This record gives sequence, C-alpha cells and structure tokens, in this order.
Amino acid sequence: MVFPTPDDGADAPIEFSSDTFLMEQALRQARRAFQAGEVPVGAIIVQGSTIIARAHNQVETLRDATAHAEMLALSQAQEALGDWRLTDCDLYVTKEPCPMCAGAIVHCRIRRVIFGVGDSKGGAAGGLLNLLQQPTLNHRSEITPGVLEAESLAILQSFFRAAREAAKEKRSNLGPENPELS
Ligand code: ZN
Repeated sequence: MVFPTPDDGADAPIEFSSDTFLMEQALRQARRAFQAGEVPVGAIIVQGSTIIARAHNQVETLRDATAHAEMLALSQAQEALGDWRLTDCDLYVTKEPCPMCAGAIVHCRIRRVIFGVGDSKGGAAGGLLNLLQQPTLNHRSEITPGVLEAESLAILQSFFRAAREAAKEKRSNLGPENPELS
C-alpha cells in the first residue's frame, strides 16, 4: 500500500507505516509553515494506513490564535471521516501539543499522539503537564515522544534565530537618520 503523494512527492515511500516516516510527513508541513513565516509546527493524522489530515500552524495567516497545526488537522480529520470521534486515529506533530490542542485531542478521542520535540514550558503531553492522560477525563491517548526530535527542534531554532536577526536588522535601520520609519 502506498500513501497519497504528499506535497512535493519527491520521496519514494519506504517503511511508510513507521513513526519515523510519518513524522517526516509532519515535518514537511512544518517546513511549509516556515516558508509562510509561521512558527514551524506541522501535524498529520493517520487512520490505518491512510493520512487523512495534514496541516501546519497558520496563526498569522488566519489571524487566529487557535489555528495551531493540531487544531487544523483535527478539523480536517473530522471532516474527512464525517465524525468527531477519531478513536482509531493517531496524530503526529513535530512539537509537543499545548494545553488547547491536548484538550481538543482528548475531546476527539485520538488513540495515540506521537510528537517530535518536547516542551517543558508549555507542553501538555507530559512536558509541563499531561492532559492526554488525566484519569478523571473520559479519554486517554497513548503518547510516544521524541520521534525525529532533533529535526523538529532544529527547524524551530532556525525560525526563531532568523526572526531575531530580522528584528535586529529592523532596529538598526530605525536609527535617528531614518526618523520617518520610527
Ligand atoms: Zn496547540
């Protein structure tokens, strides 16, 4: 079985059901976010051997603070299945989900969440807190952390490095010799 050709379709699918292969598909989405000037996080949702949703962070593009990759992927998956219950679906995301996304993941009853880089400051899949496995909630998701962690971290780091340099550049162009720009 072969997945529908993702994005540029350059790669031949090998080990296409492995977590590594599927996280690479999420990373492709993260690269799209990067190219669009968005914080580069990507997500996909898989049911059986089919990718039913692919999304990247679009907070700036949509001017919507809730437009995280996971939220957009969950909506796509619900649309694809015609059901809000995603009980046999797995979500791959390049960065540990935040509390908003983790809450939505539990509401949608995602079976398993696989993420790249953890987030000890804001992650809700065991980093800061673990909303995905709260005994009192009516659903718990399995968690697999650290898949393609280095790649998932590297794209975030290069994004924020570029953003800092752009901000520095802007400040240095806003000297007293350019008062109209300040
Ligand atoms: Zn989120």
